[in-house]
Amino acid sequence: MSETLPRIDAAIAEHAIMVRREIHRHPELGFEEERTAAIVERELDALGIEHRRVAKTGVVGVIRGELPGRTVGLRADLDALPIGEESGEVFASEVAGRMHACGHDAHAAMLIGAARAFNAVRATLAGNVVLLFQPAEEGPGGALPMIEAGVMDAEPKIEAIAMLHVDVRLETGGISITPGPVNAAADEFHIIVRGVGGHGAAPHKATDTIPCAAAIVLALQNITARETDPLASVVVTIGTIAGGYRNNVIADSVKLSGTVRTTDPAVRDGMAARIGRIIDGVASAYGCSAELDFVYGYPPVVNDRALALAFAEHVRATTPIVVAALAPTMGAEDFAYFAQRVPGLLIRLGVRNEAIGAIHSAHSSRFRLDEAAIGVGIATLVAFARAVGSGAVLAS
Ligand SMILES: [Zn+2]
Ligand SMILES: [Zn+2]
Repeated sequence: MSETLPRIDAAIAEHAIMVRREIHRHPELGFEEERTAAIVERELDALGIEHRRVAKTGVVGVIRGELPGRTVGLRADLDALPIGEESGEVFASEVAGRMHACGHDAHAAMLIGAARAFNAVRATLAGNVVLLFQPAEEGPGGALPMIEAGVMDAEPKIEAIAMLHVDVRLETGGISITPGPVNAAADEFHIIVRGVGGHGAAPHKATDTIPCAAAIVLALQNITARETDPLASVVVTIGTIAGGYRNNVIADSVKLSGTVRTTDPAVRDGMAARIGRIIDGVASAYGCSAELDFVYGYPPVVNDRALALAFAEHVRATTPIVVAALAPTMGAEDFAYFAQRVPGLLIRLGVRNEAIGAIHSAHSSRFRLDEAAIGVGIATLVAFARAVGSGAVLAS
């Protein structure tokens, strides 16, 4: 791959792969990324790049270009997952029950690689680059704490932002830049249905919550089937249902929980009210009552349309990287909070390579990625920051 990577020294990609493997061996969960943050700091120190800690285990580095231009943010996440690794890699996790199964090790390493590449050209760099190493993407979320710590508003103030996420749907050598929504909002809800318990042989003396809960499960599917635009992306999944005591006792309460996924903020805004109306109506029909607790999670990631189209065109014109536009997924990403504040791009990086078994999806215990993609990722980050920093590509 390296001969097809403009501006990226093979040594930079090789160094990033080494760092990636080091992080991969020692996965850490959200807000526990002490060791990982220390690796990031060590690498930035070696380059003489100024940095500071934010949001417990987050690291922010700043590279100041010597020519005037815009300030571009580049974000990588640092955390791993509570999964036992079964990838078979020689550099597999050395921590039981912990694994970099979402590629965040590669994200951090590619941002370090981009920092090395920028540092080498600081004299000709237009604008500034802010390196955002973020904790806890997998939960409870490190993006908002970083923003609350002022990373978007500190000098130099970030004017546009991008991130990479590895993706086994795409072959190595390709990236995906999709305009508009690319990830869903992930909100959760908890329902308690209340009735009157009693003897299973005397239903007429009780108010049974089990048939009521069953009717609620079915009625909620009406939201996606009949209430929302068929072209809008909406998921309502009931993940848990629990109630009752034993076979011959009528349950006096049932608890349900679920997730709601939407990509359109306007559709998302209406979901709590829809669910509330349906559960109240069904509960009333069954003589029960129902209580809803709706918990807002990450918002949808919406790529800036003008920036997506312009940057995709720029990459096609100036690099050999294959640019696709994959369909959005209903997964969630807290990069959304950054992209709500300035024009942003979530760019997917192809890491699929059947020959080496890089075919399992993220969050699988067998997940592996093609490290030949790391040079492509670094080249993409560098291209973004240079194009936006110099004003060659403008955000709307
Ligand atoms: Zn993940
Ligand atoms: Zn991820």
